[in-house]
Amino acid sequence: MAQGLLPVRFPAGATPRWPAPLAVTIVLLAGCAAPQEKAALPARPLQSATRVITLGTGTPNADPDRSGPATAIVVGDAVYLVDCGPGVVRRAAAAGLRMESLTHAFLTHLHSDHTAGLSDLIFTPWVLERSQPLELFGPPGTAGLAEGVLAAYKEDIAMRIHGLEGANPTGYQVKAREIAPGVVYKDAHVTVKAFAVPHGSWKHAYGYRFEARDGKVIVISGDTTRSPAMAEHARGADLLIHEVYLESMWAKRPPKWKKYHQTFHTSSRDLARIAAQARPKLLVLHHVLLWGGREEDLLAEIRGFYKGPVVIAKDLQVFDGGN
Ligand SMILES: [Zn+2]
Ligand SMILES: [Zn+2]
Repeated sequence: MAQGLLPVRFPAGATPRWPAPLAVTIVLLAGCAAPQEKAALPARPLQSATRVITLGTGTPNADPDRSGPATAIVVGDAVYLVDCGPGVVRRAAAAGLRMESLTHAFLTHLHSDHTAGLSDLIFTPWVLERSQPLELFGPPGTAGLAEGVLAAYKEDIAMRIHGLEGANPTGYQVKAREIAPGVVYKDAHVTVKAFAVPHGSWKHAYGYRFEARDGKVIVISGDTTRSPAMAEHARGADLLIHEVYLESMWAKRPPKWKKYHQTFHTSSRDLARIAAQARPKLLVLHHVLLWGGREEDLLAEIRGFYKGPVVIAKDLQVFDGGN
């Protein structure tokens, strides 16, 4: 049975354990852009497992069961968020993540369904006494987005710092870094690579590849139409977390929307082809567009062209080694 990052809460069933952790060696990649160093964390046992929690698996649709896109990669005590769709902080709380651990976030692109939780991520953990600024990585435009949020909330910030709350003066701050494809971040727990993906008329949209210290590799597509780069960057990943739409229902959409979705997003058949090339240990679907279709239909369409393991993630699903 395949070993890797497997769902332990959904669906119920046998979940094989990972192999023993690989030797922990941090290899600096030649020619990588100067990665950002994370502040020192308390020493943790190196065998701490990597977990992935799909905090929000939704789309712009206001589905009460699916928060906006947000995924947490958890290595020991360190948490790395990819996207911050609406609901991100409450889902993080539901997942048992500490507010003070919500300090690093990577944006795939600046569509509002992936960023509408940014003000929540900036302020809510701070109000709950996070003192470390939020380190925010994303495409060009990320800094302006963060500046705009801070400007919009300047009265709240002043009230909390200078009023009777006496809030700390650092935890609401944002260190925004506008990144280009390549290694964008590295610390003792993870190396993070961004890669460009085609998302319609967005000039800059990224997928991310996380390589954790225990050897686990997690690739998150962001929003993208089919591209050869995805299979290349996801090759051999433990988890490939990818967006998708149900092709049979897409075919019934009005021409305008067919064109839009074909240009901005990935069909079930195209994703199956990508997965067949990349051969991840587990393909995880999120940001799923069904247009009234059924999840079983989506899985059947994918399985028509891809025989590997595939699941549709739910909010708060945990993927780890089954331990
Ligand atoms: Zn989206
Ligand atoms: Zn998008």
